[in-house]
Amino acid sequence: MKEKYRRSFFCICINLNFADIIDMTPYKVKIGNVFIGKDCPVAVQSMANTCTADVKATAAQVIELAEAGSELVRFTVKDEDDAQAVPYIRDAVRGAGCAVPLIGDFHYNGHQLLTKYPACIEALDKLRINPGNVGTGSRHDDNFKTMIDLAVKHDKAVRIGVNGGSIDKELYAGLLEKNRQSKAPVSDREVFLHTLVESALSSAKAAVNYGLSPERLVISAKISSVPDLLKVYRELGERSPYALHLGLTEAGVGMKGVISSAIAMGILLDEGIGNTIRVSLTPKPGESRTQEVYAAQEILQSLGKRQFLPQVVSCPGCGRTSSQLFQSIALEVGDYLRLQAPVWKRAGFKGYESLKIAVMGCIVNGPGEGKGANLGLSLPGRGEEAKALLFIDGERGETLSGDDIAAQFISIIDGYVKSHYSGV
Ligand code: SF4
Repeated sequence: MKEKYRRSFFCICINLNFADIIDMTPYKVKIGNVFIGKDCPVAVQSMANTCTADVKATAAQVIELAEAGSELVRFTVKDEDDAQAVPYIRDAVRGAGCAVPLIGDFHYNGHQLLTKYPACIEALDKLRINPGNVGTGSRHDDNFKTMIDLAVKHDKAVRIGVNGGSIDKELYAGLLEKNRQSKAPVSDREVFLHTLVESALSSAKAAVNYGLSPERLVISAKISSVPDLLKVYRELGERSPYALHLGLTEAGVGMKGVISSAIAMGILLDEGIGNTIRVSLTPKPGESRTQEVYAAQEILQSLGKRQFLPQVVSCPGCGRTSSQLFQSIALEVGDYLRLQAPVWKRAGFKGYESLKIAVMGCIVNGPGEGKGANLGLSLPGRGEEAKALLFIDGERGETLSGDDIAAQFISIIDGYVKSHYSGV
């Protein structure tokens, strides 16, 4: 983490004497066939929105999300029907040749479901436990311990996932009281944010005390406000050696959700905070769930943290270009690459992710960007002959013309990938 953020802003007035006893060596965590944490690339994850008891629909969406690039997929396990469906979902997913780790999301009754249905926990790779939703008083501790004991017994990873919408109320009340009696009390909002951090860290400490290996433990403390998320995760980044799952919860619909998530996660990831991410978008009716996977990939790729698919450089267009043709080609090429990248990956192609493509509106910047790309296309400007200049590795190629310039260019991209990245 950057030095300028190394500070404990919460701990000035509220000290639970926890941070000073943790060994801060980061842990590497195994979840199914995926490793996260220390030295591992930041992983993309997503969550299904089907009814889990609908085995066919849930398995299909898990596979769709995995094929889109989600490296971990979660689904809720809310009742007995869901718990009984989990082994069948795993069978269907694995039967389709999909090895993505499966995560069960438990609230309120996880201790009961996991005790009654051992096949459910056996079929999962990780449990998500929300310490704000495991009961109150002694039942809180008993229920939490039951789930951790089962995770240890079945050798499963656990994410302790705190959420601002379901905070541990007893812990919050206790910290509010402690703050009131403090010589320098802070605002209730700061205590609230501090409660998120303490809930995650104290639950992690309890889980480790119950026998869970820190190498099977992930924590998160999500909230829906960007400035609050920055505060919470900077504190976690400073105080937690555990792998961190990062996400802006309830990010919202469309552009608002994508931009808020990108700002929040972009800042934190750039500071070295976060080992897995999820973009929690509200889908538009009928919209594919894969949008949240693509958004997460774009965040990581834009930051230079990961490469998932070729980058398309395209200008915004202006009055110099016939924008409809230019826009449709840029869009078509981008959509093609998004769908084709998983196909290349499955076929064993290597290195295609670093391919750079330029689709430019006219000759003002077209040749310059085109020459800087592996494959560049400079489209005809307004009033110019319908011919597009092609650039291959900085050199002028053939000139494309006709009504199907996009199809010709895509065919050239395909050929370039096969000849450069198939390893044949
Ligand atoms: S490359 Fe041409 S069309 Fe694109 S923004 Fe620049 S001047 Fe406009």
